[in-house]
Parts: sequence; structure tokens; C-alpha cells
Amino acid sequence: MKIKIMSIISDDSTDFKKVDINSKNPVTKPETLDCDRNFENCIRPKSFDAYIGQSALKETLKITIAAAKKREQPLDHLLFYGPPGLGKTTLAGVIAEQMGVEIKITSAPALERPRDIIGILMSLQGGEILFIDEIHRLNKVAEEILYPAMEDFFLDMTTGKAQTVKTLRIPLPKFTLIGATTKAGALSGPLRDRFGIIHRLEFYTDDELAQVVKRTAGILNIDIDEGGAYAIASRSRGTPRIANRLVKRVADFALVKADGKITKPVANDALDTLKIDKCGLDTTDRGLLKLIIEKYNGGPVGIETLAAALGEDVRTLEDVCEPYLLQAGLLQRTPRGRKVTQSAYEHLGYKNYTAQQNLF
Ligand code: ADP
Repeated sequence: MKIKIMSIISDDSTDFKKVDINSKNPVTKPETLDCDRNFENCIRPKSFDAYIGQSALKETLKITIAAAKKREQPLDHLLFYGPPGLGKTTLAGVIAEQMGVEIKITSAPALERPRDIIGILMSLQGGEILFIDEIHRLNKVAEEILYPAMEDFFLDMTTGKAQTVKTLRIPLPKFTLIGATTKAGALSGPLRDRFGIIHRLEFYTDDELAQVVKRTAGILNIDIDEGGAYAIASRSRGTPRIANRLVKRVADFALVKADGKITKPVANDALDTLKIDKCGLDTTDRGLLKLIIEKYNGGPVGIETLAAALGEDVRTLEDVCEPYLLQAGLLQRTPRGRKVTQSAYEHLGYKNYTAQQNLF
């Protein structure tokens, strides 16, 4: 499978998402990624076997792919949603690999002008996969262009002005759109309805993440034992991207401070030094919880107020910090704002939830 590059996407979290292609664009020629230049692409699983966890979703997809192949038809359009780093882009690549087709990857913010989306749609070959990340951020015009393209494989265009205006229907090859979003709720109804398959990606268990850690360490030739793998896994917030990032950081630590091997004590030492606690919370997460406890009596408090007080972007708090804090039962979302739970008080070492509440 070749991945072609066309534009750099704002999200720094997925290096290999520097993609997509409009081969008619003379400025940015397609380019194939290689391992030396792109480590992220090397550790990214390319098959269902290497793709760890998400077993229910994988089973559904295997059947859908087998059926599409039997019918010799492209796959239905798919929408994956869930917090960043859970493997949405990776899964789209695995699907392309299984279907034996190319994948073109872009992100909604890179499709600002109508010509961006028209260009990419017109560059597609039959059966190819178009992956649009952060699809909830598509603007109205791009969405309107996508509707007939997704439904009937046509581009509806208008030319001329006023009385001379003409509409053109340009046929497109049949393709599959895979959309990914961290906010399924922010997608417009008409766009959501055009996806045949909609799936949520779940956080990973410690066992699954330990497998991710061992797999990545194996590819990078890093010496790690079972205890070391689990120590990293348990502090990775249920997220493979974080697990992979921590493997590299802990490996540096092991090389400089130990004999190069990642064992449980070495991993725990390294993660403590990196200020990642037993729950996988970093300084931003703890700062958010502490702020709610100490300044807002445990909440509820609005997300904008929290973002301003922490000097963070609302989107970072909503998309990166919150999902795991909610899942871990440390934070609650209420109609009046965010509230911390008793577990958050306990985790951060505040003596007594009720006493603390009465204190304020
Ligand atoms: P998303 O698109 O959901 O933000 P990505 O697909 O970019 O997440 O995944 C981030 C990184 O995590 C990838 O580089 C990949 O190596 C790793 N990863 C994600 N899902 C899995 C998985 N199921 N098994 C192994 N590694 C994974």
C-alpha cells in the first residue's frame, strides 16, 4: 500500500497523516513514505493480526470486507469515532491493505476551499479509499459537495452567473469514504446519515496495551520484560499512541540510567520522572482536577473558564484530557459544567471528599 502525501495536517499527533493527494496539483507531488524518514509509519500495524484489540469492530470489518470483495464492490462509507490515538487512521490503512486498494488521507481543515475537496475527489481511482480526519470540522460548502459524491458518485457543479448559470453532473469512480472524528455529535445529521457503518473505538485494556508496547519495543529493538511492558501499559491512559510515545521515552531513560533494559522498576522510575502518575495522568490532567477542587469547590464549572484559567485551548481539554478523565471516573460532565468525583479527591490525595466539600 502506498500512501501519498499532499498536505500537512495541523494535528501533530499523527505523523503519517501528512497525507493526501491531488496529483493535478503541480506544487505537491505524491511521495511514498519510508521507514527511515517516518518511524510512526513503521510501527503502525498494517494488518488485522497486527492491529491489537477492538475485536468486535475487527470482526465486523472482516465480514464487511469479505462481502464487498465477493460482490466486487467498494466498501460502504465508514465513520470511526473516539478519542485521539485509539487507532482510527491505522484501521483505515488496514482496511485499504485488506481491500488491496490505495488510501488517500486528508483532514477537514485542509479542505477549506471547494477546490480542495473537488480536486481530491477527482483524483480518486475506482475502489480507492478517501480518509478524512476530523471530519466534524468540514465546512458547509465541502459537505454539500460531498453529499452527492458519497451517495451517487457524482460531483454537482455550477458554472456561469445569474441567467447563464448551468449545472454540471460529473461522474466519479466509486470510492469509499472513511471519516474519523473525536466528536461524533458535532457531525451534521445529513453527513452522518450517509455513512453505512458507524463505529466507536474503545479505550484499550492494560493487557492489550502491554501487547502494543511489546510489539513496538520489538520493532525498535528495545529490550523489555513483561513487568516493564505492563508498567508502561498501565500508565498509557488506554491509548496506543501514548503507549508508543512512552516506550520511546522510557527506553531513553533505561539507556542512560540503567543497563538499557526496560524492567518494571526502570519503567516506574522513568514514568515518575516524567510526572506521569499511576493512573496515567500528566501535569495538565492533574492541574485540571486540582483547579476544579481548589478554586471551584469541586465544580460544576464551565469548560471555557477552566481553559482560560489553565491557559489551555478548550479543544485540547475536550478532546485530549476529558475523555480519559471521564472514562476513569475522575470527572463528570453535567449540564452546568464539569465536576470532579470522589475518586478524583482520593487519587490526588485530598483527605476527605465530604470534609473538603464542607471546607469551601
Ligand atoms: P487516531 O487516528 O485514532 O488518532 P492512530 O491510528 O493515528 O490514531 O494511532 C496512533 C498510533 O497508535 C499509531 O501510530 C499506531 O502505531 C498505534 N496504534 C493505534 N491503534 C493500534 C492498535 N490497535 N494496535 C497497535 N498499535 C496501534
